[in-house]
Amino acid sequence: MKKNSINRVIGFVIVGLVLLAAVIETGRSVYTWSQQAAKQPRYTIVIDPGHGGNDPGKIGINDVPEKDVNLAISLELKEILEQNDCRVVMTRQKDEALYQAGDTNKKVADLRARCQMINDSGADAVISIHQNSFTAESSRGAQVFYRASSQEGKKLADILQTQLVSGLDPDNRRVAKANSDYFMLKNTTATMVIVECGFLSNSKEAELLTQASYQRRVAWAVALGVLQYVSGGLS
Ligand SMILES: [Zn+2]
Repeated sequence: MKKNSINRVIGFVIVGLVLLAAVIETGRSVYTWSQQAAKQPRYTIVIDPGHGGNDPGKIGINDVPEKDVNLAISLELKEILEQNDCRVVMTRQKDEALYQAGDTNKKVADLRARCQMINDSGADAVISIHQNSFTAESSRGAQVFYRASSQEGKKLADILQTQLVSGLDPDNRRVAKANSDYFMLKNTTATMVIVECGFLSNSKEAELLTQASYQRRVAWAVALGVLQYVSGGLS
């Protein structure tokens, strides 16, 4: 073989190897990309466990602080939603308030920080978890509140109210209610509801809301409602 021909063959081999490497590399990145795409959750949900840190919220008839019940239910809810195609953003994951040391009005600073997280999240739905309280001990039952001007909020709230009634207490006659005063509803734009899971001023509900098994039931009822809402089905 002439020297020219040998050089040409070597040239072809090198070009061939480079092409092969490129194909393998491209294939690998397409594979990695599709794997990442498959892993991306479809929905973004913000869970806001009300109160925390120096702000206990309501104090139960059994002395349980609302902030603890809110966080326990929220963490259960987070786990269920993350297993069901949701990316979850938590406004808090421990017993803390979200103000800075220099803030003069700590409560407002805390609420503003939560609103900022919600507005930055691009959430499909925002669930703020709270517990109710009233002077009459007989008051009981979960109730969902939504921004009065929000059609989507009403839709989400109605679905959640139905799930909470059927999942926790079929005798609960409460219906989802519009609200135009709550700070967080006024200062956020995403579809948001406030879920008052029960009354800490009612001894039976306060006892239930303190139990991990009941907290899980509440979380499941809320999760089913959220998934029903975001998937757009069965509503
Ligand atoms: Zn509260």
